[in-house]
Amino acid sequence: MNIFEMAQIPLNKAIETMKLDAGAAQIIANPERTLEVAIPVKMDDGTTKVFTGYRSQHSTILGPAKGGVRYHQNVNMDEVKTLAFWMTCKCAVAGLPYGGGKGGIIVDPSKLSKRELEALTRGFIDKIAPIIGEKRDIPAPDMNTNAQIMGWMMDEYSKLTGQYEPGFITGKAIAVGGSLGRTAATGRGVVVAALEALKLKGIAPADATAAVQGFGNVGSWTAKLFCDAGVKVVALSDVFGAIYNADGFDCYAVDEYVKKTGSVVGYPGSHPITNAELLAMKVTVLAPCAMELQITADNADAVQAEIICEGANGPTTPDADAILDAKGIMVVPDILANGGGVTVSYFEWVQNLYRYFWTEEEVIEKQTAMMIKAFKEVHAKAEQYGVDMRVAAYIVALNSLVEAMKIRGMC
Ligand code: GLU
Repeated sequence: MNIFEMAQIPLNKAIETMKLDAGAAQIIANPERTLEVAIPVKMDDGTTKVFTGYRSQHSTILGPAKGGVRYHQNVNMDEVKTLAFWMTCKCAVAGLPYGGGKGGIIVDPSKLSKRELEALTRGFIDKIAPIIGEKRDIPAPDMNTNAQIMGWMMDEYSKLTGQYEPGFITGKAIAVGGSLGRTAATGRGVVVAALEALKLKGIAPADATAAVQGFGNVGSWTAKLFCDAGVKVVALSDVFGAIYNADGFDCYAVDEYVKKTGSVVGYPGSHPITNAELLAMKVTVLAPCAMELQITADNADAVQAEIICEGANGPTTPDADAILDAKGIMVVPDILANGGGVTVSYFEWVQNLYRYFWTEEEVIEKQTAMMIKAFKEVHAKAEQYGVDMRVAAYIVALNSLVEAMKIRGMC
């Protein structure tokens, strides 16, 4: 089964639970448009290399397509389509006026010089320009892309259109129209969702422990904001390895260490553990913040956390969901828990359209309020239908999508 088919499993459960008509279900199961592009780049050694990129617009039913662009050697069309589908559902759960999209380039960016990375980024925008724009499809950062890359994209697109176009892309630096609070937003949302889950279980943050898989933008901010909330973070990891400290980490200090050394591994006072041990740790909250397909039928039985709060997109397979559910573990699904990034992307876009900017406090307050509202809606649907939080989140998303489809005359 490929990843796109796998991603449809909880959606189909939601469709059955809601007794949705087949036409509407079919619309959601098929991405509206997927573009594959070839991007030639003059390399520093004088040769020319052609890279493959994608932009998938899964849905524009609720608004322009929205979603990040990832740079990774394993990117492929199925993955990009799946990530775009998750964006549609994530935006609908968060109550944003957006559809879903995603882009990707097959590349290991650590192997490129800064000049090559810029040329590749500009080349990608040149190739997808016909289908993007502030009212059509709004890219953003994702795995291995950041504010600098968004800045090059914004510059290239502004040159192509001959206009200042900050609203065509989000996750930018403040100097080119970014929003305060955007960098930490996905991690902040994961923590807001985890705190809501703890509240439901009657556990005070000070009595909770957490293990965070991944120390990129999402994982590092999740870990730091868990520390701010008083949750003891006992395990951390990145692609190089995992570390443990029963007394809890000062995650801001770990972040400083990572900036100097490039990895969490070897952090003073920590014990090395394996990634498998991190996922199986007896903690209150496990936050997988790395990438998809991490908790599978092979390791789900070993999970001892009380709550899984998904910072990554698609970290848990449907087979694993069934095992976790049987064990009584509460899974706060990706399309709810990691919606904080796109929520603040939405605020950035609004600020760009208005040319009027908010304080960081305003951004955090609005983000927190929207995420708590979404959490409560999903939890209420889970109770109403007797389903897990993932299926409930798809029910919330489908309700908005189907209502709009009906009014638009699509089904
Ligand atoms: N890449 C992020 C995600 O998967 C953010 C997308 C956005 O801000 O548009 O949710």
